[in-house]
Amino acid sequence: MHDFEFKAGQFYCEGVKVSSIAERVGTPFYLYSYKTLTDHFLKIQRAFARLNPIICFAMKSNGNLSVIKSLVDLGAGIDIVSVGELKKALLVGADPKKIVFASVGKTGEEIAFAIKTGILLFNVESEPELAEINRIAVKMGKKVQAALRINPDVPAPTHEYTNTGSLKKKFGIDLRTTRQIFKAWKKYSHVKINGVHIHIGSQITSGAPFVGAIKKVIAFIDELRAEGIRIEYLDIGGGLGIIYKDENPQTAQQYADKIVPILEKTGLKIIMEPGRFIVGNAGIFVTKVLYVKDNGLKKFVIVDGGMNDLIRPMLYDAYHEIVPVIQNKAAQQKCDVVGPICESGDFFALDRLLPKVKKNDLLAVMSAGAYGYVMASNYNVRPRVPEVMVKGNKFKIVKERETFQDLMRGERIVRW
Ligand code: PLP
Repeated sequence: MHDFEFKAGQFYCEGVKVSSIAERVGTPFYLYSYKTLTDHFLKIQRAFARLNPIICFAMKSNGNLSVIKSLVDLGAGIDIVSVGELKKALLVGADPKKIVFASVGKTGEEIAFAIKTGILLFNVESEPELAEINRIAVKMGKKVQAALRINPDVPAPTHEYTNTGSLKKKFGIDLRTTRQIFKAWKKYSHVKINGVHIHIGSQITSGAPFVGAIKKVIAFIDELRAEGIRIEYLDIGGGLGIIYKDENPQTAQQYADKIVPILEKTGLKIIMEPGRFIVGNAGIFVTKVLYVKDNGLKKFVIVDGGMNDLIRPMLYDAYHEIVPVIQNKAAQQKCDVVGPICESGDFFALDRLLPKVKKNDLLAVMSAGAYGYVMASNYNVRPRVPEVMVKGNKFKIVKERETFQDLMRGERIVRW
């Protein structure tokens, strides 16, 4: 569900014509709907109200300050993976006591900064990392809290690169080692290990993998508790799938119906880390047709956006619906929608049926709000595009288009 729709032949984001934004800011650009963004957060909040969980928005999915501020204002916490994300979270006034810090490789500087900030929990991904957190906490004379990220080794039906809950992947700690760490808790004088964290993957559309992992982890927590180990937090991660094409993902309510009864019995304080579910369908990427060419075998629609702006099709074989921004009733034809970059992987769609388009037509690449702008790069010396947010009948630029000068900052021609 989202707030992008046609009205009288024109594609709108809430109350604003997408084409009128393109006239003002140029193309390409990312466009976010405030309403879709906040509605999705509220859906999770409502569905899980009985548990009153800490809902930490996974900022890696979209780190725009206005996006995270909109969610923080509704009570969201933030799931961070770097000190940069932590600093952005603090800039928008996120409560440190609602910030959790995952990442397989936290540096000493990052750990120290997070300790100074007083975050709620470190989600620890290895035994040496726990030792390092303890060492730094001792040095700083501070006590901190940690959850151990368990790798539950469960199947997650998603793309190989977004599957994180198997022992073949770098994430988390295996159950045997986790048990040993919990039992040796006295070794860590300044870290209170009182939580367990899982995140089995992303874009998982059915409930079963989550239920399986959560049950496995609760059974494990029960064993630990039986041995007298105290555990206060369970962070169930993110991973909820959304509609890109024809998926039929579980709703927040269906997810809650399955897991709230199981979680409730544990008496644990629940943390959630949704990213894509909240922001994925709240954003689109708008790009302009530069040229159309036909080489006898294939038709190519060449647009001004590229894989440096939205890498998901190349990286994950991801499907994104593509919609002409002015309703186009021309006959459909099969084409590749491609960018200008010197890579065969620079495409938004392959062999896609689209109404015949022409130079200067605007295309909306749908469901681009999550893992879109945040993964953009300057490949081919392409400045990153602006981000725009609509609320009702208004739109505002929430990140300016980069300039050539921005790209050159810090770069030098050395003379030996
Ligand atoms: N939590 C952790 C630890 C993650 O690694 C991720 C994404 O990779 C998320 C939460 C968010 O996942 P999603 O955007 O699928 O909800």
